[in-house]
Amino acid sequence: MTILMVGEKVAKYKMDYLMDEMTYIRKKGTLPRVEIIRVGQKEDARHYENAIKRKFDVLGIRHHESVFPEDVKQHEIIHFMKKTNDDPNIHGIILLRPLPKHLSEEKLTSMIAPEKDIEGTVPFNIGRLLYGEMDGLIACTPLAVMELLLYYEIMLLGANVVIVGHSSIVGKPLTMMLLNEGATVSTAHIHTKNLEEITSEADIVISATGKRGLITKKHIKNGAVVVDVGINVDQYGNVHGDVLFDEVIEKASYITPVPGGVGAVTTTMLASQVVKATKQALVKHKKS
Ligand code: NAD
Repeated sequence: MTILMVGEKVAKYKMDYLMDEMTYIRKKGTLPRVEIIRVGQKEDARHYENAIKRKFDVLGIRHHESVFPEDVKQHEIIHFMKKTNDDPNIHGIILLRPLPKHLSEEKLTSMIAPEKDIEGTVPFNIGRLLYGEMDGLIACTPLAVMELLLYYEIMLLGANVVIVGHSSIVGKPLTMMLLNEGATVSTAHIHTKNLEEITSEADIVISATGKRGLITKKHIKNGAVVVDVGINVDQYGNVHGDVLFDEVIEKASYITPVPGGVGAVTTTMLASQVVKATKQALVKHKKS
């Protein structure tokens, strides 16, 4: 029988823990606050932003949004970021993407103070992950995948894992996190030859490509764990994953639905990074 990995269950479990953490933080006289930086009015960024704000509201994490016009100069955002980095009352910074083409995403991302980088995108935090350190701030989507695997007690030590997708926000950090847990990880991508041959050997297949229906039953061995990170919206506004769920479920031992799988956990994991950043700031403040 295939077990459905239900994102809501995992998110609720994690939220209960975060509620306790928030009580502790409040007792210490602090209230976490996040600065959200948005350039322009892109609808996809607005959707993500609203989901984040709803989650923060449930936990009592304060948030403030700064909106810059589409033609803002890079140095203006850098100036604003420096101010935000120096403000001890701000514990986390989110830079909403995509940015207009005249702005350097790399440059602006690297301006965020590592201890406020709740999206885990600053090179310093990625470097910590490379060294197997989990104390740094980590990107919420790979964290959500790890949390799902942990909640459903999927054995990672020695497991043969194939990740399809090698982006800097999902595939690459996830590769490092799984390696840190003792899995044998292969990371496939658009140039990978014979994808089916590689995935069909895996104990765990994680797909993060944004290609609807890429993973079929031929890509999966009997009893494999299948995690679908992909989000593909069709012309009617319905959301689909990368995995052909109806046929893959027949072979998988565990599988995430889309929607209702990884996506249901990501904003909770982002909130967990705000809580982590705030607690670390409290410790730093106590020491100084
Ligand atoms: P991206 O476009 O940056 O990267 C896509 C990756 O897929 C690349 O590594 C590319 O090489 C690979 N790829 C594309 N076509 C392929 C193919 N035919 N065969 C093998 N590999 C192929 O995307 P991303 O930002 O990493 O996001 C990936 C997917 O995950 C998207 O659908 C995105 O919407 C979704 N996503 C979901 C969540 C969530 O909360 N569930 C969060 C972030 C991203």
